[in-house]
Amino acid sequence: MSLEEKVAQVKANIAAAAREVGRDPSEITLVAATKVQTSDTIRQAIAAGVTICGENRVQEMTAHLADDAYAGAALHFIGHLQTNKVKQVVGRVDLIESVGSEHLLDAIQAQAAKLDLVQDILLEINIGGEESKSGISPDELPALAQKAAACPNVRLRGLMAIPPVAEGPDGNRPFFQKMRQLYVDIRDKMSDNGTTIDCLSMGMSGDYEDAVREGATLVRVGTALFGPRPPMHQV
Ligand SMILES: *Cc1c(COP(=O)(O)O)cnc(C)c1O
Repeated sequence: MSLEEKVAQVKANIAAAAREVGRDPSEITLVAATKVQTSDTIRQAIAAGVTICGENRVQEMTAHLADDAYAGAALHFIGHLQTNKVKQVVGRVDLIESVGSEHLLDAIQAQAAKLDLVQDILLEINIGGEESKSGISPDELPALAQKAAACPNVRLRGLMAIPPVAEGPDGNRPFFQKMRQLYVDIRDKMSDNGTTIDCLSMGMSGDYEDAVREGATLVRVGTALFGPRPPMHQV
């Protein structure tokens, strides 16, 4: 299958999963996870109908930006972000999906204030409670969400998660259901102070259809579009 056919296929699968559960397919947007791809491949993906690119690595992203590779699409940062690299990301991406600590939130607020802009963010939840993963625990969410909502140069848009590697079909549905519940709770809580929470980012190549069935509004798909990556670049 060509890249164009794969983009069409993944979008069709998203739409079918949405309809299965009575959702409007237009509520869900495909984020192409473009790590290790070349600028040319990224351009091809955008020409094939990708409207959001998701980048993991600051260095690769900076190189692609210099190439103007993302022209015509929105750009999300989806990888682990070190505070010393915040300067290279704030104001250059439409959404930072992976804000998984108070420390990082502070650094983003400070840089966005310096640039006099408002940076959209998602809070990353370590929904599987895994040692190896970044993100806050569900218990920490209410306080950090309040803090984010009070940051003048940050706009909290929702939540993101990378669940554990799934075991068997339907393996991640319980995690997706928990995320959906956290999302609904925080959305209701935040609506009181005028914050619009409208993004729930979850689901990757192996499980994006289940994520859509459980309420995702953004799915981050790499392998199903671009084929397998070298082993060192799994996530
Ligand atoms: C690489 C990556 C993805 C996509 O993973 P695939 O399994 O290749 O679809 C999604 N989210 C994040 C944060 C990633 O790093």
